[in-house]
Amino acid sequence: MHSIGFQIEIILNTAWHVGTGLSRGLVDRTTQRNGQGDVHIPASTVKGRLRNACEHVARLYGKEGNRLLPCQPPRPDKMCRGSNACIVCSVFGSAYLGDRLYFEDAILNSESRKVYGPGIQSQPRTRVKLDRRLGTAERGHLFTSEYAERSLVFSAEVSGRVDLTSIDGETSHAYELVLLAAGVGLVKELGGDKSSGFGACDVSFVGGIRLEDNYIAPDVLIGMVDELEYYKVA
Ligand SMILES: [Zn+2]
Repeated sequence: MHSIGFQIEIILNTAWHVGTGLSRGLVDRTTQRNGQGDVHIPASTVKGRLRNACEHVARLYGKEGNRLLPCQPPRPDKMCRGSNACIVCSVFGSAYLGDRLYFEDAILNSESRKVYGPGIQSQPRTRVKLDRRLGTAERGHLFTSEYAERSLVFSAEVSGRVDLTSIDGETSHAYELVLLAAGVGLVKELGGDKSSGFGACDVSFVGGIRLEDNYIAPDVLIGMVDELEYYKVA
């Protein structure tokens, strides 16, 4: 196991749904704000989106003979068990392996906090709840959704201990790190209301990926992405 860590930056390209309340005044407990009143992105959302992106990369390079095809969470019967885990589980953890990478909530960076006080970090939009069966507006069912403003910038810390499998004998050139480096750039939305065009984002590394006491440039790892197909070929 090796200690790794990195910081990512998330830029909202469209407004992002942070909570829903009733028509008269927002219900605060449904909005995602921290102790300072700032909008934040929950760690579970950040981890879920990055894991999805890494599953996508693994599927792209997965083929018969390599060990890259990811399992299919959240169905327990389709997830890896024991020590013979897929590359995604070995990086992100699973019910059987426990957690491998720990994610912090993504918080507004200092520049965004300077420009956007808590009162203007999000905008309410009021909509009418539709009766799905009748396709008509339900009486008295106006609801207000709160959307974080586009162009807000968040940053999140990720760290943990993972098993690394070297590509060429150098520990820093590991399949698992290549997968992570490629996955970060593929996260393009935060989920929730994406059908209406909300929650689009760009995610990138801030600085390098730390491996023990050394830092690796993500671009070096992304340059090795085609090596992924040789992951643990028997
Ligand atoms: Zn798995």
